[in-house]
Amino acid sequence: MSDLRLSLTDRCNLRCFYCMPRAHYSWLAKTDVLSFEEISALVSLFLSLGIRKLRLTGGEPLVRKGLAKLVHLLAQKPQLEDFALTTNGVELAPLALPLKEAGLHRLNISLDSLQPKRFEQISKRNSLHQVLLGIDAATQAGFPKKLKLDTVVIRGFNDDELPALLQFANERNAEIRFIEYMDVAGAVDWSSEQVVSQQEMLQRIENNFGPTLPLEEIHTAPAKRYQLANGTTFGIIASTSSPFCDKCNRVRLSADGKLFPCLYANEGLDLKKELRTNKTSPQLQQLITSFWKQRTEKGAAQRLLSKNRRAFKTEKELLENPHLEMHKRGG
Ligand code: SAM
Ligand code: SF4
Repeated sequence: MSDLRLSLTDRCNLRCFYCMPRAHYSWLAKTDVLSFEEISALVSLFLSLGIRKLRLTGGEPLVRKGLAKLVHLLAQKPQLEDFALTTNGVELAPLALPLKEAGLHRLNISLDSLQPKRFEQISKRNSLHQVLLGIDAATQAGFPKKLKLDTVVIRGFNDDELPALLQFANERNAEIRFIEYMDVAGAVDWSSEQVVSQQEMLQRIENNFGPTLPLEEIHTAPAKRYQLANGTTFGIIASTSSPFCDKCNRVRLSADGKLFPCLYANEGLDLKKELRTNKTSPQLQQLITSFWKQRTEKGAAQRLLSKNRRAFKTEKELLENPHLEMHKRGG
């Protein structure tokens, strides 16, 4: 366990169809969401267990009030080597500088299209302009680590935009990562026909920019990185066609304190309950350690074996167990 993804909220100001497609959403009760003090205590605990990389996510983390204060609190923790936040960028313009000043190392901004109509078709909100302002603000803020842009590539929606997105990222000194469309819970309309594989993405990029050079992989990072002849680098995250479960060292904490060993896990460990019943730090450490040791999930690899692969969970199953949804457990 070296990498913690911590969801600050299940709420979001977009409705990306590949993540939360239902017409009616159930939100977590405010009293169930971890407070800043609880988050800080849990992060300290995870750091004591070997976590070195922390990524704040959601839902949309920027809709959590007082975020810069929380970032400041967490950035003080000495063992933290990599401290990032993933955002859709809608609320980023006024927050980029305060987040950098609070001690955040790096931002990942999701960007699925540069075309306003398409952006709206995917996210059901007309917010591309705000996202672009957010990206500009992030570039100007000058975070210590390079800005990353993340694109979920979906056939028939945005798969013709790879060259334009690559160029856009390059002009802003950001690195783009193209993500294969995953059948995570929440993506109820997922179909294998809509997945553009890593191989096909590479082919399309090479058709536009010439040969690509694969770069050495770093640690357990899921992205395979490549370089174009002009030096531009980019990544592809092939979680669907080529899962990295065997190398996964990542643990996820939902906004209401449930610990999941995998994006596809059905069950989590209720750490909020344990924290609120005043378990001591050694007791909590013991619980987390044995939970992690006993994990058997290799969700993406197991999904690869399924025949006639369709969406992982139906809308009915999600209504019965909303904790399964991507925006609940944090992508
Ligand atoms: N709201 C923030 C955002 O969109 O960046 C953070 C949370 S979001 C769940 C984290 C990441 O998961 C985003 O980059 C999003 O594109 C990705 N994601 C969500 N559903 C996905 C799916 N079905 N396949 C691949 N990536 C997905
Ligand atoms: Fe919201 Fe991010 Fe999910 Fe889109 S991918 S609906 S922005 S949580």
